[in-house]
Amino acid sequence: MANTGSGVWVVAETRRGKLLPTAFELVTAAKSIASQRGETVTAVVLGAAEGAEGLASAGAAKVLLLEGLGEFADDACAAAIAAAAKAGAPRTILLSSGVFGRSVAPRLAVALNSGLGSDAVALELDAEKRLVVKRAAYAGNVTQKVLVKSQSGPELATVRPMAYPRSAVNGSHGTVEKVQGDVSAAKGRTRYASFAADASPELDIGAAEKIVSGGRGLGDPKGFELIRALAQAMGAAVGASRAAVDSGWIPYKHQVGITGRSVRPRLYMACGISGQIQHMGGMKSSDVIVAINTDADCPMMKAANYAVQGDLYKVIPALIDAIKQARG
Ligand SMILES: Cc1cc2nc3c(=O)[nH]c(=O)nc-3n(C[C@H](O)[C@H](O)[C@H](O)COP(=O)(O)OP(=O)(O)OC[C@H]3O[C@@H](n4cnc5c(N)ncnc54)[C@H](O)[C@@H]3O)c2cc1C
Repeated sequence: MANTGSGVWVVAETRRGKLLPTAFELVTAAKSIASQRGETVTAVVLGAAEGAEGLASAGAAKVLLLEGLGEFADDACAAAIAAAAKAGAPRTILLSSGVFGRSVAPRLAVALNSGLGSDAVALELDAEKRLVVKRAAYAGNVTQKVLVKSQSGPELATVRPMAYPRSAVNGSHGTVEKVQGDVSAAKGRTRYASFAADASPELDIGAAEKIVSGGRGLGDPKGFELIRALAQAMGAAVGASRAAVDSGWIPYKHQVGITGRSVRPRLYMACGISGQIQHMGGMKSSDVIVAINTDADCPMMKAANYAVQGDLYKVIPALIDAIKQARG
């Protein structure tokens, strides 16, 4: 039986009563698909969450608040989304490809007899308006196009965080409906034990509007003291290339790139980073790129909006002084 559903659903994750911003990225992705098919977007919010109504002003024609789900309860959430999807019959369901989405999406695919395309960097439709997932393969050297074939269930896809910009609240007003999540089909094989917050005071690169990143050009781990000083002066988060992370200069959570995090800040400063394709794959969508490098011909300097040729140990202290002076 063919997929006869209609509409694009996005699964909006929540954490401790707060909506995750990836929901607004998924709405952007969903709108791009739905508008080509003349369909609407529905946001399915997992649990009551501050800000969830904002999705109805950002392009979702309907916001479905699924209540009664435990936090981090992958089984229960998958069961509740599947039950809602059987009733609502969407044609497509999108999830974020974070830890939670990667756990829930395959469970949903089994429950709904659906095809699943994972870790999309972009979505498109084929001539028959079926979902095609574009994903990075072979370390980002190749882009695969995967046609999501579904039997009776909706097409499913997980979308990389930051692959799409966040939909702005534009005043449009969809409806908001509260529904008790049907978790009767949940197997209950996972259990929420406890929550441990990251105690680090540093800004997270995933949500940062400004990022200062350091690479192998720093020469040694102490270079990150300079990167942190610049980041602090600018109110920016600290990023890194894999070369710096693999050298043990900075923890993995700072790594930008296809095997690290994808970021989309307003400003990305690459200090001593050559700009190999695997790094660029994680930050090339930044609004403004500034490169500081001794090699004017490296890919990062060519990709940058502002390329500063010079030794970062001279350029960055001068920049910090200039920022401090400008701020009095
Ligand atoms: C499967 C796979 C996945 C990968 N995933 C990632 C990933 O997610 N993220 C990632 O970053 N990489 C990734 N890589 C590694 C990637 O290919 C590069 O090796 C890495 O990005 C290089 O890091 P870098 O630019 O810091 O180092 P280099 O390429 O060595 O560049 C150092 C730069 O510093 C400059 N420099 C040196 N001294 C100074 C100075 N004093 N002042 C200013 N500039 C200076 C040099 O001119 C050079 O351009 C991956 C590789 C593979 C094979």
